[in-house]
Amino acid sequence: MGQWMPFVEPDVWWTVQESLNAPARITNRTGSTARKHIGSGLFLCGICEKPVKAHSQRYRC
Ligand SMILES: [Zn+2]
Repeated sequence: MGQWMPFVEPDVWWTVQESLNAPARITNRTGSTARKHIGSGLFLCGICEKPVKAHSQRYRC
């Protein structure tokens, strides 16, 4: 547990984790629900402000 005020209550956090880990969410070829490239399509480029996508270990617009 962190030593700071939680953003969400623990029961909400665990409910979300269970949803994220649900096998029904698997849409990739690896068969995994592990979070990767969480900012892809969400983070915006600091220069052109377009959404970035994951490329290898980095994000690119
Ligand atoms: Zn850009």
